[in-house]
Amino acid sequence: MKTEILEIAQVGETVLTQKAKLVTEFNSELLKLSEQMMVTMVAAEGLGIAAPQVHQSISMFIMASRPTLRYPNAPTMEPTVVINPTILTHSETMLVDEEGCLSVANKRLPIARYDEINVQYQDLQGRVIKQTLTGFPARVFQHEHDHLLGITVLERSQMPEQNFIEQ
Ligand SMILES: [Zn+2]
Repeated sequence: MKTEILEIAQVGETVLTQKAKLVTEFNSELLKLSEQMMVTMVAAEGLGIAAPQVHQSISMFIMASRPTLRYPNAPTMEPTVVINPTILTHSETMLVDEEGCLSVANKRLPIARYDEINVQYQDLQGRVIKQTLTGFPARVFQHEHDHLLGITVLERSQMPEQNFIEQ
């Protein structure tokens, strides 16, 4: 059966302002949702998508990276399913670059993000994974992680730079 493409929530919808619930069951429902998110992201030509963007307020997102016109130096990276993520530590340095969002149509905003982050998350089997991300993948991770906190680029662009990433 073909995997269903889901509708993407747009700013103004409550689901984008809610704090996502932790995932506790690593079951076939979760796998199915991740597959739907994957095809939805690809169809929309996104480089990441978070569960709240498809109206599911749970702590899961997909991060991807590939060179684009706007980010020609972005590394190519297999899309990765990230569940219950935490940013453990981060660099002092932040870099500002423009970001778009599938939930914020026709807008690109300059956003400061940590250049390097150490993260922990779970995969679809519930295994704990620790990773260091730098540059563009670190930016994607922080963007998607914000969605799980109920924050879009509209709010983030208004925030003082150091007042970041409260769990
Ligand atoms: Zn987004």
